[in-house]
Amino acid sequence: NNIVTIFGIPFSKWGMQETVQYLTGAISARKPHQVITANPIMVMAALENPSYKQMMQQADLIVPDGSGVVWASRVGGDPVAERVAGFDLLHELMKEGERHRWRVYLLGASPEVVQEAANRLKMQYPGTEIVGYRDGYFGPEQDDEVIEEVRRTSPDLLFVARGADTQEPWIAKHKQRLAVPVMMGVGGSFDVISG
Ligand code: UDP
Repeated sequence: NNIVTIFGIPFSKWGMQETVQYLTGAISARKPHQVITANPIMVMAALENPSYKQMMQQADLIVPDGSGVVWASRVGGDPVAERVAGFDLLHELMKEGERHRWRVYLLGASPEVVQEAANRLKMQYPGTEIVGYRDGYFGPEQDDEVIEEVRRTSPDLLFVARGADTQEPWIAKHKQRLAVPVMMGVGGSFDVISG
């Protein structure tokens, strides 16, 4: 059993390497997975907001992004292997993607930031293909158009950077239509990558 429940949230106990291995399997199987890298702020949000909690519980994999979560699992006597930070997981998946020629779509941040993040990731991981990107400033009336664009490019990985209160519920809501094997919220990662 690779799951430990902390404050009602089922966390994966896997470390980085096993997480990447598992998601590699998800991509070969073409089955849509929502991955949440949950930090203590998101756990707090889940405690305060039942619908956010329910949304998290429906994710396919929740990894412990934060030393607070690692600590809580140790206190509970069923420790997770290590912290699996979203930013690190993004890079590990980009690296693994070079071996498999994975296709990646970047969704979120401002137009300038996401374009620069795409350029830098292309340079750093030339074997992993960035098949599309777009900014994260759109309203629900544009959801259909955005989802169609993502589907058209048929990515293996979809990284969504729109802030934790928006990106996770958005992926959850559109998971079946997006149908990307690995869909993951990455918060402010594109801002960091673009420098
Ligand atoms: N963002 C976005 N659309 C929005 C709000 C935010 O694309 O409507 C982007 C923002 O540009 C940044 C990322 O989401 O790149 C994370 O935003 P923020 O740091 O505000 O959220 P947090 O990670 O703190 O929840």
